Amino acid sequence: MELEAEEKLGVLVVCGDRRFWRLQQESFERETGLTPQQYWVHCLAGGAPKAFETNDLVLEEHAVHSGAIIMGWGAHGTRCGGYPGLDDETLKQKLDEAVKKAKEKFPQAIHYRIWSEGEIPNQKTEIRRVK
Ligand SMILES: [Zn+2]
Repeated sequence: MELEAEEKLGVLVVCGDRRFWRLQQESFERETGLTPQQYWVHCLAGGAPKAFETNDLVLEEHAVHSGAIIMGWGAHGTRCGGYPGLDDETLKQKLDEAVKKAKEKFPQAIHYRIWSEGEIPNQKTEIRRVK
């Protein structure tokens, strides 16, 4: 089956933390214009940094081979169950490293860095396209 030329596909990696996973999905959809049917979701404790550290990239590779060109890399502060005891600055550094690795591993893709922090109901999410 051939893809429509104009159909966009993506893949999003987020931590499963209940405070943040949905917010990161929503920000990814807003920023990219993708609908939930147009992207794969990989949800794991620790988000994007953990996917690289454990080489758990099967879904990402499958998505890219299936036509995904938009990739969202999420992580969060305010305590992460994937990284017990790490502070926000360290977690942010881990996300930056993951995004750098993502650009190297998937050079043809468009990459978004997604960071969240804060407690319910005052969580904040920032998403930006990475050059
Ligand atoms: Zn987490």
